[in-house]
Amino acid sequence: MRRKLIAGNWKMNGSLAANATLLDGILAGAAQLQADLAVCVPAPYLAQAQTALAGSAIAWGAQDVSLHESGAYTGEVSVAMLKDFGCRYVIVGHSERRSYHGETDAVVAQKTVRALAAGLVPIVCIGETLQEREQGDTDAVVIRQLGAVLDALKAAAAPLSGIVIAYEPVWAIGTGKTATPAMAQQVHELIRAQLAQRDASAAASVKILYGGSMKPDNAKELLAMADIDGGLIGGAALKAADFLAIAQAA
Ligand code: PEP
Repeated sequence: MRRKLIAGNWKMNGSLAANATLLDGILAGAAQLQADLAVCVPAPYLAQAQTALAGSAIAWGAQDVSLHESGAYTGEVSVAMLKDFGCRYVIVGHSERRSYHGETDAVVAQKTVRALAAGLVPIVCIGETLQEREQGDTDAVVIRQLGAVLDALKAAAAPLSGIVIAYEPVWAIGTGKTATPAMAQQVHELIRAQLAQRDASAAASVKILYGGSMKPDNAKELLAMADIDGGLIGGAALKAADFLAIAQAA
């Protein structure tokens, strides 16, 4: 039985004051929940998240990480730095990183390996664009993006069981358009089958989150699907009540 994970991706939002209110609100409502909760905050606010959430059941993490260990990489943040701030999770390969920052499948794969080796749990994002879906390429894109990560894990002899996958159809992110539960389940099933080809027992335990306009009013149906093990939540993670309502649905 995979415990559900509801992870918030705050993206480039927040301030010290707004974050304090949001974190307080989440903490106040988190006690009775059955799901695991995490917030992935902008890097400058990791210390704030660590201070606010230390000792609670809510984990925190970052939204990206460098594929390099350390050195002359101006502006980059290393896995060791994320560990210093108590991060459990790091999102890698979010579609906004892929499209605005040119992250290739190979870069995403290297970041995943780097994060795992440091003891972080990478939340690896994969998903097709609208054009790819309309051309009937969804399965091929997902298989290609996932395959790059799985090949890199294999080459590094890293355990598949240490990652979380987020299926995020790009056309559903921040658009208000959500994949139907059946559409999402079909891709999640494909992802699990791909994982099983590499490692059947890990495939049964790896969490596959859905992301893309998940909200309190659609979360229950999505989270009821057999292979949807939680959500990666963008917009709705910025309001404690909405984030908690999604967690409640899980
Ligand atoms: C995301 O950015 O990971 C995401 C799922 O965003 P939203 O929930 O706003 O679609």
